[in-house]
Amino acid sequence: MNVLVLNCGSSSLKFQLINAENEELIAKGLCERIGIEGSQLVYSPTGGEKVTTVVPMPDHTAAVKLVLDSLCDKEVGVVKSLEEINAVGHRIVHGGEKFAASTILTDEVIKGIEECNDLAPLHNPANLIGINACKELMPGVPMVGVFDTAFHQTMPKEAYLYGIPYEYYSKYKVRRYGFHGTSHSYVSQQAARLLGKSYEDSKIIVCHLGNGASVSAVKNGKCVDTSMGLTPLEGLIMGTRSGDLDPAIIEFIAKKENKTIEQIMNMLNKESGVLGISGGLSSDFRDLEEAHAKGDDAGTRTLEAFCYRVAKYIGSYMVALNGVDGICFTAGVGENSGLVRSMICEKLAFTGITLDKEANGKRGEDIIISSNAEGPKVMVIPTNEELMIARDTYALVK
Ligand code: ADP
Repeated sequence: MNVLVLNCGSSSLKFQLINAENEELIAKGLCERIGIEGSQLVYSPTGGEKVTTVVPMPDHTAAVKLVLDSLCDKEVGVVKSLEEINAVGHRIVHGGEKFAASTILTDEVIKGIEECNDLAPLHNPANLIGINACKELMPGVPMVGVFDTAFHQTMPKEAYLYGIPYEYYSKYKVRRYGFHGTSHSYVSQQAARLLGKSYEDSKIIVCHLGNGASVSAVKNGKCVDTSMGLTPLEGLIMGTRSGDLDPAIIEFIAKKENKTIEQIMNMLNKESGVLGISGGLSSDFRDLEEAHAKGDDAGTRTLEAFCYRVAKYIGSYMVALNGVDGICFTAGVGENSGLVRSMICEKLAFTGITLDKEANGKRGEDIIISSNAEGPKVMVIPTNEELMIARDTYALVK
């Protein structure tokens, strides 16, 4: 069965076509600048050459149509006709408390996703546009929704309640949800395998460190805590998001700088994180590492603050798990930056963790990078959210 995995953003669309039986990638690509001038499709069939086409895409339906045309194209295509695309798996950002698992997309489910729009006003509407585009272009093909929040729905109340009046939870469902769930789920499963442990009897901490970043504590295959909250703004210091802060800062800066709540929220989402701490130097860790290597304090203070926050979360999740078998690093920074991993692990020396320098320098494979015989193991596990979406889709549709 071939599963088309779609990840629709407000002006972009990422896709992969995966053979769900042997889990091989057949083709992948990206539509950018949908609805904006200069839109383009980048299409990469496995084993073939990457094709970039600059072509107008007024809306998501046009983008999905172009993707399907490329997949079926006589020259660069990978399937003979649309009939060889058997199911579609959609990444959906917010499932609220309604969706604790991946679900076949019926009209009722789609309505339920619409009801979560309030919780993710930037993301869910874009996901729904992608769903509707597929409904129009591939009528009758089964579709599955895979939610970023679903894996975290097992968190206990003590972990998801905020210290604010309970009525806001009762009335508006203001609580912690967590994101990157597909990645945390995939990586924690791979980690148990790599440790030679049963997933149902394991304590794993996953550090998903990309542009957006979050940590999760997974006990016996179930998430018990995670660092993102009602929105992806809470928790770690990220590329441009602040992560945890004293909420009183919002009023303080608003008054000092005569700013509105919207302006402050924009600053916390887009101008903060490592970009902000580094004084606007960069949100990209490659630039920060380069600055640090040259002795530039902007690079050094930023990396220190970022790594300290991650280590602090790992420490608190050892409490949430009452111990830990393995700590995993994944996503852009987690998979690629040996420096960030070693700076974080240095702060965990009390647990007995020591890193194997050679292993910590490797890339692109599931690997244990710690050398201590006792105590928690440290791992790098490249995430694969698309494969996880294809697996869930296959399991529900087959
Ligand atoms: P997202 O999916 O959240 O946009 P990614 O998981 O792709 O983000 O991570 C992107 C980030 O990974 C980049 O902003 C960059 O900081 C970091 N990154 C990528 N390659 C490297 C590298 N070789 N060394 C250090 N950091 C890297």
